[in-house]
Amino acid sequence: THFGFQTVKESLKAGKVAEVFSSVASSYDVMNDAMSFGIHRLWKDYFVRSLNPGRNPGGQPMSILDVAGGTGDIAFRMLDHAEKINADRETSVICADINADMLREGEKRALEQGYMSTNRISFRVENAETLDSVPDNSIDLYTISFGIRNVTRIPMALAAAHRVLKPGGVFACLEFSKVSLAPLDTIYQQYSFSVIPLMGQLIAGDRDSYQYLVESIKNFPSQEQFAQMVKEAGFMNVGKGYEELTFGVASIWKGVKP
Ligand code: SAM
Repeated sequence: THFGFQTVKESLKAGKVAEVFSSVASSYDVMNDAMSFGIHRLWKDYFVRSLNPGRNPGGQPMSILDVAGGTGDIAFRMLDHAEKINADRETSVICADINADMLREGEKRALEQGYMSTNRISFRVENAETLDSVPDNSIDLYTISFGIRNVTRIPMALAAAHRVLKPGGVFACLEFSKVSLAPLDTIYQQYSFSVIPLMGQLIAGDRDSYQYLVESIKNFPSQEQFAQMVKEAGFMNVGKGYEELTFGVASIWKGVKP
């Protein structure tokens, strides 16, 4: 049946995602730099700066949930920003990911940076579609960076984000998107479909996982379509719903829970 087919396809996708991220966990940070020429760092810096994490206007520390947090790139930037810009050493981040291998790399980094002895960061195995251990209306800021396109049932992840956020809480997503400049798109398509799998093979010894990553970018909805999905999940879009970075190579979508 149609539904039978869907289920098989979905479980294949979930299995594939787990396999991909277990095999890339140890080389993930190096590969990110190599594939994006380090630009992912600038996007992530901008993403975090634009959210200005730290004490909210009522003076309370924030509860932040970074979903598909992987090795903690966003979580560490959040804590750093809260401390340096907002003099806030109490705001805390839960780094949640479906893959324990990715989280373990994050824990290593937390240990190196002296965060493990504080209660400012915690690592949790969680599926974005359910977020079982996160109570309703408990989070001030939900982020998901380069994670949503890997989620099998994206509307379920958006519903879970809506459930865990407090009223007035912010949903923010950073993800690859559709390049909006035609000549750049031609180069980008060639680069991503030939160079990235080759780099995966040479640097990480894993061509297939990087082939999957490239395909998952191609299959992700357009900027407008995803902004519409965020709205349909019950959020108020911020501005037109998205902001393009580097001619749409990546975009940021933001929504507020009414
Ligand atoms: N947020 C990090 C960053 O920006 O560098 C990591 C992004 S990495 C490309 C994607 C992450 O999504 C992986 O760590 C993977 O395990 C996680 N992931 C995939 N499907 C997930 C799901 N359903 N729930 C939670 N995490 C998921």
